[in-house]
Parts: sequence; structure tokens; C-alpha cells
Amino acid sequence: MALVRVTLQPGREKSLAQWHPWIFSGSIATVDGAPAGGDTVLLHASDGTPLASAAWSPESKIRARVWSFDPRENIDADFFRARVRTAVRARDGLLDSAHNACRLIHGESDGLPGFVADRYQDVVVVQIFAAGAERWRDALIDALAEATGCAAIYERSSVDVRTLEGLAPREGPVRGTMPPQVSIIEDGLSFIVDVAHGQKTGFYLDQRNNRKRVRALTSGRDVLNCFCYTGGFTIAALAGGAKSVLSIDSSAEALALARENIAANAFDPARTEWRDADVFAELRKLRDAARAFDMIVLDPPKFAPTAQHAEKATRAYKDINLLALKLLRPGGLLATFSCSGGISADLFQKIVAGAALDARANAMVVERFAASADHPVALNFPQGDYLKGLLVRKSS
Ligand code: SAH
Repeated sequence: MALVRVTLQPGREKSLAQWHPWIFSGSIATVDGAPAGGDTVLLHASDGTPLASAAWSPESKIRARVWSFDPRENIDADFFRARVRTAVRARDGLLDSAHNACRLIHGESDGLPGFVADRYQDVVVVQIFAAGAERWRDALIDALAEATGCAAIYERSSVDVRTLEGLAPREGPVRGTMPPQVSIIEDGLSFIVDVAHGQKTGFYLDQRNNRKRVRALTSGRDVLNCFCYTGGFTIAALAGGAKSVLSIDSSAEALALARENIAANAFDPARTEWRDADVFAELRKLRDAARAFDMIVLDPPKFAPTAQHAEKATRAYKDINLLALKLLRPGGLLATFSCSGGISADLFQKIVAGAALDARANAMVVERFAASADHPVALNFPQGDYLKGLLVRKSS
């Protein structure tokens, strides 16, 4: 069956020429037919040149997401099997005796817009964000089962962005039998992952390298871990020999799991202190109580999903970084992150610089952080570069 032909406005083929996979609704001149959500369409330049095949998202501002920049390539189950296999194989080196979890498919950066898959030991958790991936759900899941040999696949397609695509939420087991509890090994440390109720797909795999780096820096230090979730940086710090770790999060479920993770790794709970609290308020309390730390981790949720939220997010980032810099002892380290797509690495550094100035802290950037290797950034998709971080040292 011939694919529906979609023709772009003059000049709007530029981003496709650079292999950017998104076509916004305003770039489209004509649609020869009435494609349904998820249908594959053929994108043409205004002069009629075929450019790419793409998934149609009639309800979204991102009206089409490219599957292939070769307009002759067939988009079928074999196409998805090949893309999934390539992505899974590219992670082979990331799974070893000290690690049995990683992201297997990172959406656009793996040539599969709107699709994410994370591996936790023998369980794969998938998320579908867009109409095209939704249409090819069975093919994608079959391909994952084949490429990984994993015993169970679980779906967490309940994210808000699905409503922009006109898709209803969907959650639950899709293949195999789920084990009663999923636990993973990262850097030789154990973590229980709540794949059914946890945030995202259950664990923040993107911080793997950064937790390892923090682990190497914490020996003998009093550490403050803000936005600790299930204790990723807390446990890394304890493994690194931290003297004490105070961890803060506003999710009671996350904190409960964090405590279980302390036990799973047989760390002395006496080295830990927990606060079920709002970080913004708690940092002020710690300041008023004249507490001080040798290392602080700030890993907040995304305050600015898009550039429109940047101004408000800037104030929030500045606030917590300012307070953290005040709580740091001279010579102390601040590992500060932003996972906001709407805040560039450059802007983030400016925000932290402003915070240091207002805190009257003389400080320097000694290292930079990004997402781990299982969250690659395709060079044609700079939006994939969402996680940035700075290691800042306060002068003694
Ligand atoms: N560093 C973690 C991931 C952090 S995700 C890891 O390595 O696993 C962000 C966390 O911030 C979530 O656990 C969320 O519950 C928490 N959170 C969001 N807003 C908060 C707030 N205002 N105060 C405290 N915690 C908050």
C-alpha cells in the first residue's frame, strides 16, 4: 500500500537535511490523505523530492518523527528488529560482573523515537511516548525479547507526554512472569528497583558513572544527598567510605526503598540520617541549625522540561545551589546536576556561578558530568543531551 505523502513548506526541509528526526506541525504544507496516528508517511520537500519516512502523530505539535532518512527503506517488523538488535548490542560492554542494569534503547538517539527500554537484571521495562512507537509496540517488544533473552517485559507507558499524543496510559506486565522483587547490581552494589511503582522505569540509570565518581570522592566525608530517591548517591557515598550521609527526599516510598537498599548492602545504618522533606525548606533548616558538610549532591527532578520553563527553573536551581554552597565546609565538594532539557550546560554553569557569588563562596569547577554511555546523544539530536552536572570545589 502506498504511503501517504506529506509535503513540507518551502525551506522547512533544512532540519531533515541535517537528519533531525522531528517535523513540527507548522512545517507541513499538504497531506495527501488522512493518515491515522502511528501510520508511516513519506515526507517530501516542497519541490517534490522524497526525504524520509516518518511516524504520523496527528494530535501532537511534533507531527511526524522520522523512522528512516532513506525514503525507500521498508518500515516493518524487520526494520524494528534490526534497530532494536543494534541498540542492545551496543550496550554489551556495559553489562559485566559489577553491573546488570542499563538503558537498552534511548529513543531518538537509538533511531527509535518515542521508545525507551531499560534492563534490570532479567527484566526489561519499556516506555512508549509517541503514536509511531505505539503502533509498532508488538514488533518492538518481540524484538526486545529476542535480542535480550530476558525472562520478563514490563510496560510503564503512563507518562504525561502521552496525552500530547492522544494516547491513554498503559502499565503492567507484557511478557513472561515478573519476579516478586527486582534487584540490580551497579558498581558492585545492590539496589532494589520497584519497576511497577518507582519513578521513570524504576531507577535513574543515567547517573551510573556519576555515582561511581562520587563514590571515589567521599572517603572520610560528611555527605549531604539532596533528592536522594532510593539512595543511589547515598549508597555510593557509603561504599566510598563516607563518615556520614544525610539524605533528603519528599517521597516516603523512595525513602523506604533507600533504607532497604542500605540493608541490602549491609552498611551500618548509624552512618545514615534521613529526612522526608522538601529540599528547599530542609536546606534552610540545616543552615539555621548551623550544619556543615564536606560533600553535597544536588540531583533535583527536571525543573524545566522545555525552554519555556527556564526562568522559573533558574530561580529554583539558584536557590538550592546557593544554600548548598553555604552549607559546604571550606575545601568541600558540590556535585550539582540538572536534567532539564530547557537548561543548557552553559546556562547551568552561569546559574551555579550566580549562586556562588550570592553565597559569597569562592569556588571552581573541577569536573563536568553528563549521562552515562547507555544514554548516548545522537549528534543529529542535540535535545538528547539533557543531563549535565558540575563538580565544584569551595576554596579553603
Ligand atoms: N539522585 C537520585 C535520583 C533523583 S530523582 C538517584 O541517583 O537515584 C529526583 C528525586 O527528587 C525524586 O526522588 C523525587 O521524589 C525528589 N523530589 C522532587 N521534588 C522534591 C522536593 N522539592 N524536595 C525533596 N525531594 C524532591
